[in-house]
Amino acid sequence: MSTMTGKVALVTGAARGIGQAIAKKLALEGCDVALCDLKAEWLAETVGLIEAAGRKVKCFEADVSNAAAVETVVDGVMKEFGRVDILINNAGITKDTLMIRMSEQDWDAVISVNLKGTFLFTKAVARPMMKQRTGTIVNVASIIGLIGNAGQCNYAASKAGVIALTKSAARELASRNVRVNAVAPGFIQTKMTEALPEEVRKKMMDAIPMGRFGQPEDVANVVLFLAGETSSYMTGQVLTVCGGMVMQ
Ligand code: NAP
Repeated sequence: MSTMTGKVALVTGAARGIGQAIAKKLALEGCDVALCDLKAEWLAETVGLIEAAGRKVKCFEADVSNAAAVETVVDGVMKEFGRVDILINNAGITKDTLMIRMSEQDWDAVISVNLKGTFLFTKAVARPMMKQRTGTIVNVASIIGLIGNAGQCNYAASKAGVIALTKSAARELASRNVRVNAVAPGFIQTKMTEALPEEVRKKMMDAIPMGRFGQPEDVANVVLFLAGETSSYMTGQVLTVCGGMVMQ
């Protein structure tokens, strides 16, 4: 039996892409899974994957940047499952354009979802996890938060913020046996990257030593490691999953 059997995991932005792959992987390892996305009906496909793995699943509709909605989700998870062992802060958006053209709204939107959303969910689960004296939180950052990117100053700042939040929360929660780590994916094939123009994709590919784009499962595997017991002596760390695009 896996050491994750019966653990309760909460995954944000779980309707598709990396979040869906993470939720599926956790269920296959034996976790019961609470799913969160903007619209509950978009979670139907992910629900099917969790049920196929034979685990309990429950959907929560919330905008991760809304403090009251986040509190309601975590209260709901505690009522439904009685505990929360794993939080995956995955929901994220991009609104790309060069800084001189970027509107205040596009700046605020990306910071709100990617950074504030991660703060709100981390804060909301911190109390029950500290009480339990156990818990793991994995934040989905990005290599762009480490190296920056022209046309993504809002996104880069949000993900750099997620990394700093990860390290600070890790220091605050370590004594209660709650670990907080992050993954920093490179170029992963999802709806988020689908829209990129061909010349940008070509440029990206040239910068990837492994010569291929990543799949959501590549990220999910590393998230699973950070969420589980095999990483028991790691906290405040950032693992890149990028085919060698960034080497720290
Ligand atoms: P995706 O395919 O766009 O999926 C993101 C999910 O998050 C969608 O289901 C989306 O719902 C949901 N979401 C967006 N805003 C939300 C909000 N305010 N509240 C709740 N849910 C919300 O993206 P992805 O590529 O899987 O990315 C997942 C994470 O990985 C993000 O944090 C992203 O920044 C990070 N990442 C991705 C890549 C990559 O190359 N793909 C690289 C590095 C990091 P909607 O249907 O409403 O959009």
